[in-house]
Amino acid sequence: MKKLKFDTIAIHGGTFTGTGVNPTSFPLYHSAAFSAESAEDMEDIFKGRKFGYIYSRISNPTVTEFEFKINALERGAGAIAASSGMAAISTILFALTESGHNIIAGRGLFAGTYLLFDEITKKYGIDIQYVDMNNPDNLQNALNSKTAFIFIESICNPALEIYDIRKISEIASGHNIPLVVDSTITTPYLFNPKEYGAAIVVHSTTKYITGNGSTIGGILVDLGNYDWQQTRSKGIMDSYSTSGSLAFITYARKKILHNTGGCISPFNAYMQNTAVETLSIRMDRHCYNAMKLAEFLKEHKKVRSVYYPGLDSSPYNDLAARQFGNKFGGIVSIRLDSKDQCFKFMNRLKLSKIAANLGDAKTLVVHPASSIYYNCSSRIKKRAGAYDDLVRISAGLENIEDIIDDFNEALEEA
Ligand SMILES: *Cc1c(COP(=O)(O)O)cnc(C)c1O
Repeated sequence: MKKLKFDTIAIHGGTFTGTGVNPTSFPLYHSAAFSAESAEDMEDIFKGRKFGYIYSRISNPTVTEFEFKINALERGAGAIAASSGMAAISTILFALTESGHNIIAGRGLFAGTYLLFDEITKKYGIDIQYVDMNNPDNLQNALNSKTAFIFIESICNPALEIYDIRKISEIASGHNIPLVVDSTITTPYLFNPKEYGAAIVVHSTTKYITGNGSTIGGILVDLGNYDWQQTRSKGIMDSYSTSGSLAFITYARKKILHNTGGCISPFNAYMQNTAVETLSIRMDRHCYNAMKLAEFLKEHKKVRSVYYPGLDSSPYNDLAARQFGNKFGGIVSIRLDSKDQCFKFMNRLKLSKIAANLGDAKTLVVHPASSIYYNCSSRIKKRAGAYDDLVRISAGLENIEDIIDDFNEALEEA
């Protein structure tokens, strides 16, 4: 058969197991443990001499199915699902770093990632530098022989900055440093970080992959681009002697995730695995609605500025078109006159919900500075673009005319 297209892999790809009964919808194995045929069997499974399931913190068939599917979409070498996007990022962090290392991150980061880096990671003698990656030379100047990894988001929110990921990955690979890309906002449908030379991609599957705001989850994928023999992590280096090119994925799963316990619930994996089948259709609609909404907001006299990479006026328009296949994602940010006006506008929306999530079927709005970033210093807020007068919008899947009517009415009165 010819190489399958994205939409087809989303539906048929990654099926791993034969249970003999061939369900067309992969079932939910809602069990904490799996019994072994014999004591010898249990020993063999524990020692890795035989494939099998033991305990759902370690592995679960529904979770494996979900991992296989996302791995197929990313064309990766292996995937690990986790209890949340933050659990997936923590797993990468623990796997790649040793005390004395440093991490270089893009300046536009999800607040939870900032807080993980700044408040937790630094405690263990790991330094973090935030760099404006709009100019990749800044990265070149910041890295050194102790840099464990480089971390960027594909589309940073709420400021909607976009970096030249090809250039960043060239610098990273020139110094043998793995590049980790958080592609939550672009999903595997808009962006394939493997093609751009990234080592690892991570998603908060809570967002577009779930697609309806029902479950929390995360996933990381080793894209197979990085030669793990070059790693600065002692753990991965040790793992290389037995696991070879799967050194990272084996170490991250067996040493980090199994022991930190950030496994995804089989129920969440079931919901998300099913939802992936319609990811491309949903993303097309999110992108369409966001574009129409951004165009409307740009013309509105009460809106001081609109951030959306799909607008001709965006400094990221060409780069985004190139990197993300002429699709620009479902997030739009607007700036009004003040925090007070943002609150008034948000309170007058009737259809759209005030919620600190994104990628839901429902249109959601949030004032990041007073919510998601409330705990961050004013320096972090400024760096991330969480301005006092900014509202972030996650365009839903409703009819665009109804979304625009809702915004129009709320703005008129704001
Ligand atoms: C939400 C989000 C995360 C964290 O994911 P959780 O599932 O909430 O833990 C990480 N990165 C980005 C870009 C996000 O939007």
